Amino acid sequence: MLRCPVERIERTQQGHFRLVTGGEAPGAITCANLVLCAGLHVSKLAATLAYGGEYRPPETFYAKGQYYALSGRSPFKRHIYPLPDGAWLGLHATVDIGGRCKFGPDIEWIPGLDYSFVPEKLDKFLDFVRSYYPGLDATRLHPDYTGISTWMLSVYTASRLKGRTDAEAKQAVEGAIRQSEEWRLKHPDQR
Ligand SMILES: Cc1cc2nc3c(=O)[nH]c(=O)nc-3n(C[C@H](O)[C@H](O)[C@H](O)COP(=O)(O)OP(=O)(O)OC[C@H]3O[C@@H](n4cnc5c(N)ncnc54)[C@H](O)[C@@H]3O)c2cc1C
Repeated sequence: MLRCPVERIERTQQGHFRLVTGGEAPGAITCANLVLCAGLHVSKLAATLAYGGEYRPPETFYAKGQYYALSGRSPFKRHIYPLPDGAWLGLHATVDIGGRCKFGPDIEWIPGLDYSFVPEKLDKFLDFVRSYYPGLDATRLHPDYTGISTWMLSVYTASRLKGRTDAEAKQAVEGAIRQSEEWRLKHPDQR
């Protein structure tokens, strides 16, 4: 269903879910089972669902990734994916159907939706890409775009279920991120 934003989720007396929709299709959709997969906005939408007790939907953690485009001929015919370590796929090289090559994404944990490009991070970016493409000429790189992916880390949920506070659970998430190889590669000075 297109152009049909769900504004809130209610429970009916029969225990079904009622999705109240707005936009060009105001109305409601009722279902017995519901899978929430609203990407960047999933926690906000889940929070409209009034469950009993102290249930709170998991918080979404935003990871911003930047891409650089490589001008001129692509050095690769195929995508190059360094072996992933943990959940993050690492800085890969993608060749599009026009033969254009781009590198990314890097990763930065951000508190909200912010798509600004941060060129100051280029040096760490270069270090990673040169681990599999030592001949990279930085003058051929140009800022391309940024994207944001979501992480509702099980670390957070598990911590809360163990009775830890919101702040303690967030600290546990930060600890898990710091243990990832990607983080260590990007912060070699803070090992
Ligand atoms: C920079 C970047 C690089 C990535 N690289 C890779 C990669 O190399 N390999 C890989 O496998 N994955 C990669 N990903 C991740 C991949 O893109 C996502 O995991 C995937 O797109 C998530 O799909 P989704 O269906 O959960 O969410 P989405 O694709 O975000 O879809 C959510 C949908 O819900 C809709 N929606 C939101 N709120 C509402 C509402 N209230 N009512 C109605 N609809 C709503 C949105 O409009 C959207 O259409 C990358 C992501 C980013 C940002």
